[in-house]
Amino acid sequence: MALLQRLLHSWPALERTLMQALGLQPRLAPALAIQAPAVFPQSKPEVCANDQSDRPGFLDSIFWMAVPKKRRSIEINRCRRRDVRKLEKVKNNIEVCQECGHLKLKHVLCAFCYQKVTHETALVRAQIQAQEGGPRNTPPVETVVLYEGEKATEADEGKRIIERNRKRPSWFTVDS
Ligand code: ZN
Repeated sequence: MALLQRLLHSWPALERTLMQALGLQPRLAPALAIQAPAVFPQSKPEVCANDQSDRPGFLDSIFWMAVPKKRRSIEINRCRRRDVRKLEKVKNNIEVCQECGHLKLKHVLCAFCYQKVTHETALVRAQIQAQEGGPRNTPPVETVVLYEGEKATEADEGKRIIERNRKRPSWFTVDS
């Protein structure tokens, strides 16, 4: 038993001596492919065979990342996810639009009313396109949109006048 232990203990040195005596190359270490930066140290074979102390290990150049040490229970996770600070805040800045009655934020335009304005503006633009035939024929003067029952005033002399064959909507006011 003692002999076997001694043999096992001295087996690497014995193997190396035998290899050198027989002129064989030392057995190669198991190969390992690692995706790492190009600064990965390349150990030379002769250094590899002789001194074992200052040879950089293949684990030295690996970038280690932190991982959770303990599993967090589902109660802890749910307490974090359903915390009071993560709840949706109650909004107090909602009011009723005076024009249409839809709910809207206090500090922004009513989206419903603005959609109507956008639609009417698109109709006015389409009428201009039909009258003039394109943007190249646009006169370089101010534009006045007149609805049914409206007359051009003296201030509108020389301006481009677009007449709409409908009553002026209450929300489509003149900016004067
Ligand atoms: Zn509105």
